[in-house]
Amino acid sequence: MNRALDWRRYPNFQPQEFACRHTGRVRMDADFMDRLQALRSAFARPMLISSGYRDPTHPLEAIKSQPGSHASGRAVDVSVRGAEALQLIALAVQHGFTGIGVQQKGSGRFIHLDDLSAQAQQPRPTIWSY
Ligand SMILES: [Zn+2]
Repeated sequence: MNRALDWRRYPNFQPQEFACRHTGRVRMDADFMDRLQALRSAFARPMLISSGYRDPTHPLEAIKSQPGSHASGRAVDVSVRGAEALQLIALAVQHGFTGIGVQQKGSGRFIHLDDLSAQAQQPRPTIWSY
């Protein structure tokens, strides 16, 4: 199920952009990265990744009852705002991203994107704000 990552498939991204800020590990999901590269190509602008993989021991994951989408390597937070943020959301929906998180207040504005499947207690596709 977990294909090995071949970073040559993702010419607009570098592994270190996705490394867990807590452990340095990079365990992104290959299908997710294919989807992200397709989105990046359509967006046709730099995408600054403010959070990629988060190890289950990362402080933001460790406080959750179970690790979230970043801990499965199927989520990124992209630093983007305003008109570009809306454009990114529209393209992300077209590319099959199913979880859209919106943080557009103050500093540190970003859009969270993941492609998790629907589960009990977790309808998809969905959108939320922080
Ligand atoms: Zn996120």
